Amino acid sequence: MAARWLFLGVGAILLAGCEVAPQEPLALAASSPAAATVTAPARASVAANARCLPARGHTGALAGRTLPVSRVSDIRLARGEVVLTFDDGPIPGKTTRILDTLDRAGVRATFLVVGTMARSYPRLVREVAARGHTIGSHTDRHPNLSRMAHGAALAEIAKGERAIAAALSGSGHGMAPFFRFPYLADTRALRSALAARGTVVLDVDIDSKDYFRTSSAKVLERTMARLRSRGRGVVLFHDIHARTVAMLPDFLAALGREGYRVVHLVPGGAGACPAPAS
Ligand SMILES: [Zn+2]
Repeated sequence: MAARWLFLGVGAILLAGCEVAPQEPLALAASSPAAATVTAPARASVAANARCLPARGHTGALAGRTLPVSRVSDIRLARGEVVLTFDDGPIPGKTTRILDTLDRAGVRATFLVVGTMARSYPRLVREVAARGHTIGSHTDRHPNLSRMAHGAALAEIAKGERAIAAALSGSGHGMAPFFRFPYLADTRALRSALAARGTVVLDVDIDSKDYFRTSSAKVLERTMARLRSRGRGVVLFHDIHARTVAMLPDFLAALGREGYRVVHLVPGGAGACPAPAS
């Protein structure tokens, strides 16, 4: 019975996830003027971050700053800086291959995990964290929160967080207070409520649209075109799609050729810098 429920739950997520692609106007309308779109970071901000050494494994030629984030406005990227984010997982096979690709490039990303997936694959959640990546949340069952009552939406967010925390329990790794709205469908009231409880909403500057049923080459072409146009930004991928797994090595190679650096977001606050690499 439990196994059947799990199977149905995962199936529901895959069907109800970003396979149901939001219309572009929705994504654009839902994306607030993200802090990542502002100009180069203030000198003082960069200096403050210099005390933070790179997270484990974030040492490749592509690896840029490790950026502690306590609020949305902390995500200020200079030209050429990119943040990699992966939503909707983890899922066996695909997520693991993405971790391997990121390891080879020596860069770290942020994974926005769905509660249902965390309950199904807790060991994989722990592996993502153990390999040096940041883990945030993405609700429990991936609903469109903008169509829910405010209280129910907050409960859905909290349920997802509890599932991820349970998966990480005892691992020595924690979840960052980072959250992404499914379908990028936010509301002003929810954003305010999340900010008041210290949760940072991760907006998207460059949507790879890897949920469309196109080739990996098309995803690569679209993502690089948008990145070249903006020059910097938070990139949205999904670790549940084979086309994303297939395109990621070429994407990272393109970043290297064109001089980009991958910034690793970590929780801000006192003592939140990653431990020095041994
Ligand atoms: Zn999603």
